[in-house]
Amino acid sequence: MGFWSIRLFRIFGIRLEVHLTFHLLWILFALFGWQQAGWPGVFWFITFLFLIFVCVVLHELGHSLTARMYGINVPRILLLPFGGMAQFERIPRNPWQEIVISAAGPAVNFALAALLLLAVRSPSGILVETFPMGWTALVNALILLNLVMGVFNLLPIFPMDGGRIFRAALALRLSYLRATTIATNVAKVLAVTGIVLALFKFEVLLPALLFAFIYFGGHMEHKMVQRRENMTGVFVGDLTRKHYPTLRADQPMEEAARLLELFGYDEIIVMENGVPLGYLPAREVRRATRKNHLRDNVALHARTRFSVLQSGWPLDPFLEMIAQNPQRLYPVYSFGNLIGVLDTKNLENLITTHRLRQRDLGRPGGDDIPL
Ligand SMILES: [Zn+2]
Repeated sequence: MGFWSIRLFRIFGIRLEVHLTFHLLWILFALFGWQQAGWPGVFWFITFLFLIFVCVVLHELGHSLTARMYGINVPRILLLPFGGMAQFERIPRNPWQEIVISAAGPAVNFALAALLLLAVRSPSGILVETFPMGWTALVNALILLNLVMGVFNLLPIFPMDGGRIFRAALALRLSYLRATTIATNVAKVLAVTGIVLALFKFEVLLPALLFAFIYFGGHMEHKMVQRRENMTGVFVGDLTRKHYPTLRADQPMEEAARLLELFGYDEIIVMENGVPLGYLPAREVRRATRKNHLRDNVALHARTRFSVLQSGWPLDPFLEMIAQNPQRLYPVYSFGNLIGVLDTKNLENLITTHRLRQRDLGRPGGDDIPL
C-alpha cells in the first residue's frame, strides 16, 4: 500500500499509517458541518472526526497489544475510511488467542463508552438528533459512536471481529480451513443481506459499500487460508532447484548482460569463493547497460543484503517475507552446504506440481496403476 498510505508516527512501536482515501472524510465532514452551522459547524465536525480517528486507533491498539501479549508482532496499523486494520505478522492459530485478540477491539469501545458516560452522567442525552454544537453533544456523539462501533464489529461477519470470534469458535471443533470456509460462507450471506437491506430498504449507499468491502475481505482471507493449508507439509528443500544462473564477483557486468540477453533470466546469483555474495536483478543489469557501466565487476552492482533458506525449513512461515522482499532467488543450504536455490517466481505452480507428484508417489503403486 506504499503509495496510497501516509505514515504518521509510531505508537508502542507500531507504525500508524493513514490511507489517502481517509482524507476524503475531512472534506465530507467539513462540508456537512458547514451546511449545519457554518464555521462553528465545520470546527465541531472536524473535531468529531479527529476523535473518531482516535477511537479507531484505540480499537486497533486493543487488538494489537493483546496480540503482542501472545508474541505476535504487529508492524503497522492502517486507517481506511471504513475503519482501521491492524496488520499482524501472523494470524494466531490457537482459537482461544484469536477469540481474545478479536474481542479486545470492541472491548476498548465499550470501555470508552462507559468512561464517557461516567464523565457526562446523562445517559438520557445519548441520542443526538440535531447537532447542537457543544461539548456535551460531542461527548454524547462519541458515546453513541463507540457503542455502534463495538456492536457493529461484533456482528458475526468474517473478517470483522465478530466473524473472527465465530471462526475461532468453530475451529475449536473443526479444522482451521473448514472453520474458515463456514465462517466465510455465513459472512457472504450476511453481507449480501446487508447490501440489499442498505440499498433497497434504507436507501443508503455507504453501509452497502462497507458490506461489499467486508464481502471481498472475507473472500480474500479464505483464499489465503486455503493457500496456506495447501502448503503445510511442504519444505524449502522440496522446491529447491539445483541449476541456477551464477556469475563470479569479479566478472564484468558485460557478462551479466550477455546472460540476460541469451536466457532471459530475472536474477543472477553472484558468487565469491563458492559462496553467494548477493544477487543481481535484471533491472540492475539494464540500468548498468544504460549508464555504460558494463566494465564494472558484477560485485559492484549486486544486492548484498539477501536472505538464505535451509532446506529442512517448512515453507509456510516464509511466504510473507518472500512476498515482501524484492529478492527472487533464495540460496538454499543443507547442513552448511549450498544445494541450490528456491525460485519464488510461480511459487504456487511449483507447490501444486510438488503436491501432485507427492500424491502420486505416496499412493502404493499397485492400487490402480499397474507397474
Ligand atoms: Zn476490530
